[in-house]
Order: sequence, then C-alpha cells, then structure tokens
Amino acid sequence: MAMNGTPRVGLIGWRGMVGSVLMDRMEAEGDFDHIEPVFFSTSNAGGKAPKGDAPLADAYDLDALKSCEAIITCQGGDYTSEIYKKLRETGWNGHWIDAASTLRMSDDALIVLDPVNRPQIDDAIAAGNRNWVGGNCTVSCMLMGVGALYKAGLVEWMSTQTYQAASGGGAKHMRELLTQYGKLNAEVRDLLDDPKSAILEIDRKVLARQQAMLGTDEAAQFGAVLGGSLIPWIDKDLGNGTSKEEWKGMAETNKILGLGPDALGGSNEKAIPVDGFCIRIGAMRCHSQALTFKLNGDVPVDEIEAIIAEDNPWVKVVPNEKEASMRDLTPVAVTGTLTIPVGRIRKLAMGPEYVGAFTVGDQLLWGAAEPLRRILRILIEA
Ligand code: NAP
Repeated sequence: MAMNGTPRVGLIGWRGMVGSVLMDRMEAEGDFDHIEPVFFSTSNAGGKAPKGDAPLADAYDLDALKSCEAIITCQGGDYTSEIYKKLRETGWNGHWIDAASTLRMSDDALIVLDPVNRPQIDDAIAAGNRNWVGGNCTVSCMLMGVGALYKAGLVEWMSTQTYQAASGGGAKHMRELLTQYGKLNAEVRDLLDDPKSAILEIDRKVLARQQAMLGTDEAAQFGAVLGGSLIPWIDKDLGNGTSKEEWKGMAETNKILGLGPDALGGSNEKAIPVDGFCIRIGAMRCHSQALTFKLNGDVPVDEIEAIIAEDNPWVKVVPNEKEASMRDLTPVAVTGTLTIPVGRIRKLAMGPEYVGAFTVGDQLLWGAAEPLRRILRILIEA
C-alpha cells in the first residue's frame, strides 16, 4: 500500500535508546519534511512532545493510533505484544514499522535491511505487505559488513563470537554500566592516586565491590555485574543450551537473505548454518563480532576483500595490520557513524577455505534506527 502526500506517522518509543538515535537520524536526513509526525508515550500522555505543539498522545489509545497511516515503534516487544494485534483487529490497514523482535519471524513481516535485501522489500511492497521489522542488531551489522559473501554464494557456514555493548539493552542498562564503573573507581580512588599502592590490593577491593553489587539494585538491569566483567548470555534461555540472541543469528540471517523456510517470498533454498556465542561486554555502544567462515572453496584474501568492499557505500575494509585495526576497528572509532569496518580478514589454520574476520557496527544505527527510517522513506517514495 503506497502512502500519499505527507502521511501521518505515529512515533512510539522516541525517547528510548533506539528512538533517540532514530529521531537524530530523521532530523539529519530531513525525514520530518515528508511526514506529519504524531508523538506517543506509554508513560507521559499529555506531556510535551519533542517537536511541534501537540501534546503527547497515549500509546494505548487505539483511536489515536488508527489515525496514522504508518506507525514506527521503538518501544519494545512488550508494547508490540500488547497493542499490535488489537490495532489490526480494529481493521487498521497502515504500515507497522517496528524495532522489536516480536513480529520478526511472522510470515507476514519482512525484516528490513535495504542495502542487503532491497529486492525482497520491493517484492513485498508489490505484494501489499504492511509489516516491516528491523532485524536483530548483531545480525544487521554483520550483514552490512559481510553480506556480500553470502550474496556471492561463497558461505558454507559461519560462526560468530560477539562482543555486544551495554546499550543493546537500552537506556537504563547504559546508566547501570556507567554507575558500576563509577562505584568501582570510587572504591579504589585513593589507591589509584598513590602510584606506590599495591595493585593486588586494588584488585581485591574492586572484586569485593563487584561481588557486593550482585543481587542488588546496582546490578538490576543486567542481573549480573558488567562493569569490569562480561556476561556470556544475552536474551532468553531457549532451554536447549542456546540463548535466543544466538538463535536469531541463523534464523534472521537466512530470513533477510530470503533463504530457508522462514523467508517471506524467499527462494526456499537451503538455510546456511550460522551459530556461535553472544557475549555482553562493557562497551557503551557498538556490537563487535569475530567471524569464522567456511567458504565453498579456496578464495584468495584479496578477492574476499574486494567482494566485501564493493558491496555497499558504508562497508570499509580495514587492512589486517595492528595499527589500522587498533585505529579503525573499535567501538570508539565506529560509534555514531554509519561506517561498518571489516578487518582482520585472513585465512585460518584449519585450511584454505576457512577465513576469519572481525567487524564492528553501531547497533543503534544500522542495527536498529537506520533500517526503520529508510523503510519509511522507501514506502513514502513507492
Ligand atoms: P529503551 O531505551 O529501554 O526504551 C524503551 C522505552 O522505555 C522508551 O521508549 C520509554 O518509553 C521507556 N523508558 C523508561 N525509562 C526510560 C529512560 N530513563 N530513558 C529513556 N526511555 C525510558 O529501549 P531500546 O534499547 O531503545 O529498545 C527498544 C526496542 O528496540 C526493543 O524492542 C529492543 O529489543 C529493540 N532494539 C534495540 C537495540 C539496541 O541496541 N538498544 C537494537 C535493535 C533493536 P516512554 O517514553 O513511553 O516511557
């Protein structure tokens, strides 16, 4: 369903982590010139909206939601579960654009990442699709980096080990991480100021303070201490030894590429195995991942680099050298940019068809906000 004129677009979740980045990007790209925005809130209806004079609408008011031709929600899965079905049951026929995972694997939803799956998006528009869901942040950033290898039919399987930032959990999680770091620093500040103090005493005090955080409000968001540590589990426990975040790697990669049984209008070709471990680390923004590929053959590294580099305007191959890797391949270098660096590309000891790579992406941009604002523009221009 194409939208006409300047469509009325409801924005829900605009003050959260994803929503704030989305607002910035929509402002920067002039998206608000093409829509009539309606700002909603789940907690502050009647309050001040971030733009315009109209007060915040109630995000649970079905009539207010129905008045929009499109809705973009970055509010989270609980909101989608609560509202989406009720809204459709009223007969609302608009475009639902969502950052949450709730609807991602539904048969009538397309995972949007247009630099990777624009043909599927165009087919879905032609078929009258109205549900557009942003992919899992790690999967989207990975495909922006190395999707070209999949598209070239080179990947037999891929294993990924992720290093995911605190902001992946949302605004409250970022605050918790920084608060933990601050408390750990405060615990040993005097000792740090004294260059002659014993490092083992600092170490012991930090550990004792970390352990004291466990089970308290100081670690309530993550449920474990992240400051000065890591958490080897993200999202739900599927009960088979796999986390839901790990499961998404294979399911969503293949759905986005139009492979396997879950693909909407896809080729139903055999899904490519993708598996690995998803780890939360104490970075603020950006999800990084170490990738291991088994390719279908012995492709030279310079050919692999060329295939990756030519795929889209945002991917950047970083030479596999220490200086370039330390400069260009870190969350600090990438945060706030749309650049997706891919580096450390090299053959692995297991054999000539085994290739390693490391990539970093701002998961709030390509992993969340950017595909949502781009699908809105695509729908407006369709
Ligand atoms: P979030 O920061 O927790 O924001 C979600 C909502 O929480 C906000 O819209 C706001 O709703 C409410 N909220 C309560 N206290 C807040 C505070 N102190 N600051 C800001 N907002 C507060 O969640 P998010 O990370 O943006 O994630 C939203 C959805 O996107 C989730 O489904 C998530 O899985 C998905 N996603 C997240 C990422 C990521 O990297 N974070 C990436 C891809 C997808 P009200 O204004 O209505 O109160």
